[in-house]
Amino acid sequence: VGVTLALGSLLQGQTAPPRSASPYVVLSKDGRQALPVSVSGGSEVVSLADLAAIFDLTVREDTLAGGITVDRGGRTLVLSPGQGLASASGRLVSLPAAPVRSGSTWLVPLEFVNRALPLVSDVRVELRPSSRLVIVGDLRVPRVAVRTERLGELARLTFDITPRTSYAVTTDAGRLVVRFDCDLLDARIEPPSVPELVRSVTVVEPSTAIAIELGARYASYRASEVPVEPDVTQLVVDVLADGASSPPAPTPTAPEPPPVLFDQPASAIRTVVIDPGHGGDEEGARGPGGALEKDVALAVARQLRAAIENRLGIRVLLTRDGDQTVPLDERAAIANNNKADLFISLHANASVRASARGAEVFYLSIDEYGPEARRIAEAEGTWLPAVGGGSRQVEMILWDMAQVRHLEDSAVFAGLVEQALRSRIPMSARAIQQAPFRVLVGANMPAALVEMGFISHPDEERLLTSSAHQSLIVQALFESVVRFRTWIENGRRAPDPGPEGSR
Ligand SMILES: [Zn+2]
Repeated sequence: VGVTLALGSLLQGQTAPPRSASPYVVLSKDGRQALPVSVSGGSEVVSLADLAAIFDLTVREDTLAGGITVDRGGRTLVLSPGQGLASASGRLVSLPAAPVRSGSTWLVPLEFVNRALPLVSDVRVELRPSSRLVIVGDLRVPRVAVRTERLGELARLTFDITPRTSYAVTTDAGRLVVRFDCDLLDARIEPPSVPELVRSVTVVEPSTAIAIELGARYASYRASEVPVEPDVTQLVVDVLADGASSPPAPTPTAPEPPPVLFDQPASAIRTVVIDPGHGGDEEGARGPGGALEKDVALAVARQLRAAIENRLGIRVLLTRDGDQTVPLDERAAIANNNKADLFISLHANASVRASARGAEVFYLSIDEYGPEARRIAEAEGTWLPAVGGGSRQVEMILWDMAQVRHLEDSAVFAGLVEQALRSRIPMSARAIQQAPFRVLVGANMPAALVEMGFISHPDEERLLTSSAHQSLIVQALFESVVRFRTWIENGRRAPDPGPEGSR
């Protein structure tokens, strides 16, 4: 119950009127342009009108279909109000939020720029949130972080340069200039506090060089380079005072953490494992007309695989692609070994109550696994064993219980599946439940089990074996995967209103 309540508030998505935020700078071969940004519904948005001017887009509202089309050079992108999705020529990308009308234009999430625009453009677009840059095309824009520290009689400036970029250090009228071989610098400079040696450190126009204004006590300098990581170079410039003794040689230090963690985030979901229940001798539930659960599960699994692979470009593996027996523990192991990001187990239900019907979605309940499971689940982030005696056994226990670390994500995913199914097919009165399913407990990723309906009910048996009904289930599961991915990419907090967001 707690889960459905929490999820309900999560999915409601309050939208306040947009307020403005500091603009981004769009860098391209043609120069730089400001891209106004505002904040709506907790995330940063940009207007399609501004994007149209910068990226040469034609935006049209398709009043008949209720969509928004964005054309660029003869290629068309479709956005739907109410959905955090953009599509073009059969390709679909998720956006953190749906478009929002604002006067005569529409506001779209900032991620439209690096996720959706590439669908209609061959130009590379990189978003750098921490430096509020949009980089268009193959510009070389290295990140350079500069910090200055006092070391006795000298000032040491450390430049962390990512990626490796060649440069030259020259002296010029009371200053040192570090000139980089690039189109533009993405510089982040800590103001120095060694005024007698370094008065200031600034970027000089046209933003490809950094100048160090020298102080009154400056006598000489020395520069050296320290490779730090394959992609990071550290340039160390020591500024020496009059009569200073020879400075200690620089030793590599840890570079500043890169200012941006994910420019173009790798999709949060790269591999999905679909687990068609049962198989081989183990036929699962059997309908009054003779339909078998194992066959329904495999048929839906194959269609879902095709939908996800073709439309999202995500790798999909089935725990069985034929009519064979696969032990329960092996199913989770297949997902674990392939580093799956999501595990979906497909089943059809049976009941002795002839009237039982409707789909149900499950995620793991751990109560049945005893206090140890509860302890692991609650000790989030601290459970890694420093426990003496039999580390193998400890490892095995933790691996067995891998799912407990993903219960919150699994609950959200199960909620999205329940919501997507509910808008398409009949649901049971207990549409979302927790249960101690053996197949889920070892899965080291978010996981849910879907009972697609009661095959023991004659009407549902007919539905479950019909291709029209199967494709409704596939659509619902597909939509759930997209929305779950958006939710993760949004930092697991921003609401994803999705098609039923207004409910
Ligand atoms: Zn089953």
